[in-house]
Amino acid sequence: MQQRIILHLDVNSYFASVEQQANPFYRGKPLGVAATMTPYGCLIATSKEAKAKGIVTGVRVKDGLALDPNLIVVEVDPPKYRSTTEKIFSILAEYSEDIETYSIDEAFVNLTGFVRSFDEAVKVGRIIKQRIFEEVGEWLTCSMGIAQTRWLAKFASDTAPKGELVVLTRDNLDDYVRGRELTEAWGIAERMEARLLDLGISNLWELKHYPVTNLMEAFGIKGYELWANLNGVELSGVQTPRPPKSVGHSHVLRRRTMDRRFHEAVLMKLCEKTGRRLRGLDMEAGGFWLGFGTTLGGGGDSIRFPNRTADSQMLFKTAVDIFRQQHKAGVPTHFAVGCFDLAPVSRQLSLFANPRAMRYGAGPKDYGLAKALDEINDKYGEYVVAPGAMFGLAKHHADDRIGFRKTVSWDVAALDKALMGKGWVGAEPDGVEVVREEA
Ligand SMILES: [Mg+2]
Repeated sequence: MQQRIILHLDVNSYFASVEQQANPFYRGKPLGVAATMTPYGCLIATSKEAKAKGIVTGVRVKDGLALDPNLIVVEVDPPKYRSTTEKIFSILAEYSEDIETYSIDEAFVNLTGFVRSFDEAVKVGRIIKQRIFEEVGEWLTCSMGIAQTRWLAKFASDTAPKGELVVLTRDNLDDYVRGRELTEAWGIAERMEARLLDLGISNLWELKHYPVTNLMEAFGIKGYELWANLNGVELSGVQTPRPPKSVGHSHVLRRRTMDRRFHEAVLMKLCEKTGRRLRGLDMEAGGFWLGFGTTLGGGGDSIRFPNRTADSQMLFKTAVDIFRQQHKAGVPTHFAVGCFDLAPVSRQLSLFANPRAMRYGAGPKDYGLAKALDEINDKYGEYVVAPGAMFGLAKHHADDRIGFRKTVSWDVAALDKALMGKGWVGAEPDGVEVVREEA
């Protein structure tokens, strides 16, 4: 089995460092970030210079100033921290697809499969540090841990000297934990420490070597976790974001018109995007809603499907039905569609399966054709291949809100080749037309 390699990153004194990055005058000085600028407000972050004077997180502004009258106090500025976090995490995303955002300044990066050894992981860690220094800010430093499990990686970076990188392997783990206090371990607080002390366990090395059965007798499953974490047994893995509970898209109409074909084309695009997201997640929806606004108000409704679906055409038909029933007056101004009650795609054969889908070599509920189209669109640009109802819809209608996707000009030969591989070239199914995307 491939060696698992997890990297954990934690930016040091995050809010305070970002403030010092933004204002060079603050650098090298004791600084506290206050939740509110009142004497009794708490400092929610302090710079390393402040910490050196005993001004730690949780100290009141008044008490911080008593410890050092030169303490600089600034008010918390979340947008500044968020935009810095985005920059840091977008660098991380270049080194793995499997990233867990643990907090605003902490992340787990699963490097398994992206690097072949701990040595390579260390190189990647150093490059990330250097890039944060160069691309985000020279005042930002981070601690890093690299290990075979998520827990050990965080333990390594929690216990690393500020700004340093610690690698824990099977070989050095024993030495590393020897003599360390119980509360240095992620997840062990004073109460647990007291209970462990009662068992005669006084440090992390002793905990690591304590018989696991005895720990389980004392603490049940928690006892196993304590032992497993310190012995390099993976219990959770990097926790990438869980699938959403609902997916949907919305769009404000740029053209104010009563042209039904235009409205339906926009709805088709919104439903197609929603269907694609569902299929990308390997999920199906149990229900669907449409909302719309008009110059005279708005309306909408939701329905439940008899069978779960991820079929864009089904979403589209439902959207049109709801719109026709609910739209009484006014010129439409915006549309929103959403799917809810999501569940993983069931591979069960449906009684109502479309036999045509079989012709294209896919099981009735595999969304084989739709997924093939999704792949082509992923490869050659959005809506190179699109449902007929979208035909003629100018590109900017119902575009992605965040325009990071490339528009690729239509390459007939490449498209034919791609379609050939999917086995249905020359046999375009109903409702699907090849449309040209403007480059
Ligand atoms: Mg931090």
